[in-house]
Amino acid sequence: MVLADLGRKITAALHSLGKATVIDEEVLNSMLKEICAALLEADVNIMLVKRLRENVKKAIDFDEVAQGLNKRIIIQQAVFQELVQLVDPGVKPYQPKKGKANVIMFVGLQGSGKTTTCTKLAYYYKKKNWKACLVCADTFRAGAYDQLKQNATKAGIPFYGSYTEVDPAVIAGDGVDMFKKEGFEIIIVDTSGRHKQEESLFEEMLAVSNAVGPDNVVFVMDASIGQACEAQAKAFKDKVDVGSVVITKLDGHAKGGGALSAVAATKSPVIFIGTGEHIDNLEMFEEKAFISKLLGMGDIQGLMDKVKDLNMDEEQMMKDIQKGRFTLRNMYEQFQNIMKLGPISQVMGMIPGLSSVFGQAGGQVSDQESMKRLKKLMTIMDSMNDKELDDMEATKTFTKQPTRVTRVACGAGVTEMEVHALLDQYKKFSQVVKQMGGVKELFKDEKQMKNLNPAKMGKVYQSMAKAMDPQMLRAIGGMSGIESMMKQMQQGGQLPGGMGMQGLEAMMKKKGKK
Ligand code: GDP
Ligand code: MG
Repeated sequence: MVLADLGRKITAALHSLGKATVIDEEVLNSMLKEICAALLEADVNIMLVKRLRENVKKAIDFDEVAQGLNKRIIIQQAVFQELVQLVDPGVKPYQPKKGKANVIMFVGLQGSGKTTTCTKLAYYYKKKNWKACLVCADTFRAGAYDQLKQNATKAGIPFYGSYTEVDPAVIAGDGVDMFKKEGFEIIIVDTSGRHKQEESLFEEMLAVSNAVGPDNVVFVMDASIGQACEAQAKAFKDKVDVGSVVITKLDGHAKGGGALSAVAATKSPVIFIGTGEHIDNLEMFEEKAFISKLLGMGDIQGLMDKVKDLNMDEEQMMKDIQKGRFTLRNMYEQFQNIMKLGPISQVMGMIPGLSSVFGQAGGQVSDQESMKRLKKLMTIMDSMNDKELDDMEATKTFTKQPTRVTRVACGAGVTEMEVHALLDQYKKFSQVVKQMGGVKELFKDEKQMKNLNPAKMGKVYQSMAKAMDPQMLRAIGGMSGIESMMKQMQQGGQLPGGMGMQGLEAMMKKKGKK
C-alpha cells in the first residue's frame, strides 16, 4: 500500500531528529526535504507541500529555544499538526440523527465504488443498531439492481428497486417514501454513474436529488486518480450540494496522499475510506487519528471507541479472572466481543507498532479465515446447555460423559472431533486465565503494571502464546510480539521519533485553546 510507504518515509525523517546531536537549521532543512519529497511522491499538491514546509519552519525559532529535546518535540509536533492540516478541510460533515429518517444519496462516476460503499455504510450503521436500508436508483447500468440486491441480501439489509420502472427519480422517490413510512433511520440511495462527468449524469443526479431531498450527499471517489481528484470533486460540488466524501480503493496502489489532500482542498470532509472489497473494509476517517496511524502511532482513540461499543461487564470479568474462573460461557462472550470488534487485523492495526504487521495487504485472507473459525466455535457452544456453559469442570464433564459430545456435535452440525478441538482450546484459555489470576500485580493500579515482576510476566506471556492460534501467534511476531504488544499498550504508545502520547496531548490542548 502506497500510503504505508508514505508513513514509513515520514517517520524515518522524523527519526533523524533523534539521531542528530545538535538540531540546527541544517538538520531541520534536510528532514523537511525528505518529508516533502515523500509527500510529492504520494501525489500531494506542490502548493500544499510548500505550505507545510513553510509552516513547520515558522513554528521554531532557533535563537529562542534552548538546545536539546525541546526543539525535537516542537518540530515533530509542527509536522504532525501540518500533516493533519493537509487532510482537514475545516468543515464538519453531516451527522445522522437517531430516531428520524436520514436520507443519504450517493453520487460519483461509474466504477468509483458507489454500490459497494452503499452496502458497507448500511452495514456499518446496522451493526450500530440503526435501522438502515438501501434504495437502488441506478437504471443506467445493466444489472445494477441485481448487484445491489445481492450485496444487500448478503448483509441482511432491506432494499428497494425496480426491474420495470425506467425513471431513476421515480424509483428513488418511491423507495425513500416507503422506508420513511416504515420508520427507517438510515436510507441510502445508490445512483448511477457515467464514465465521464457528462451533462446527462448531472441532470439525473439533480432529478433524483429533487425527488428524495437528501440530508447528505456523499461523493464517492476512487483514490487511484491521484491529484485529478481535486478537479473531479470540484465538478461534482458545483452541481450538487456534496456534504461529504468517501475515498475508495485506498488498499490498492493508489497514491492516497493525492486523493486525501485534493479532496480536503475542495473543503469536502472525508467521512470514510474504503480499504478493500469486503463489506467490513470501511474505516471511519478522522484527521488526527488518520495521521497518527499513518505515522505508526496507532489509532488509540478508534480502538477505545470500538471497545466502548462492546457491552461487557468488565467488573465481573475482572473478578472472574482474578479468581481464575473461566467457563465456556466466558469464552463465548470473549469471542462475541472479538467478532464485534471486527476483523482482527483491523483491530490490531490500531495498536501502536502492530500496524506494520497487520496493516499490510495479504493479511485479509487469514483474517476472514479467523472470523469464520470463531463463528464455528460459537456455533458449537450454541448447542450446549446452560449447565455445560457454566460448568467450572466442563472439560472433565465432557470427557466423563461422551454422549454430551455426540449431542453437541449433532446439534451444531459438526464432527465430534471438532467439539473436542473446541474443548481443547477452552482448556488452554482457562489455563491462561488461571495464571493471570495468579499474577496479582496485574490488577493493581496502572503505575504498578509497569513494574511487574518480569519472571511472572514471562510466564503469563508464555501461556498466552500457548493458548493462541498458531497462525495468529506468528502474525503478531511470536513471543516477543506478545511482549512488545503488552509493553506498548502499557506505555500508551510512543511516536518512533521519541514523542510520547503526553507531548501529543499537550499539543492537542494547546490547539483547543486557540
Ligand atoms: P459503482 O459503479 O460506483 O457502483 O462501483 P462498484 O461499487 O460497482 O465498484 C466497482 C469495483 O470497485 C468493484 O469491483 C468493487 O468491488 C471495487 N471496489 C469498491 N470499493 C473498493 C475498495 O475500497 N477497495 C477495493 N480494492 N475495491 C473496491
Ligand atoms: Mg453501482
